[in-house]
Amino acid sequence: MIDESDQRHLERCVQLATDALEAGDEPFGSILVSADGETLFEAINEVGGEDATQHPEFAIARWAAEHMQPAERAAATVYTSGEHCPMCSAAHGWVGLGRID
Ligand SMILES: [Zn+2]
Repeated sequence: MIDESDQRHLERCVQLATDALEAGDEPFGSILVSADGETLFEAINEVGGEDATQHPEFAIARWAAEHMQPAERAAATVYTSGEHCPMCSAAHGWVGLGRID
């Protein structure tokens, strides 16, 4: 089920993906939203710097591990413009993040 606020967050991901593309990178963008609907962190794809691990979903997992308690991570939602790759899926699981939209 996608509600109006989910829709707004997903549109933000598409905008971030567009920003990444315009910056010469691959078009991916993701945001991390807390249980009460606050956007905590945004990231775009940055593999253009020759580091193929610089995916936005991976950046979110690292940010969450550094800045959030486990219960906050589990209650948060990651919105993303594309499906998680295996690396980012693993990182998402290892840091205990919640829902992916
Ligand atoms: Zn990835």
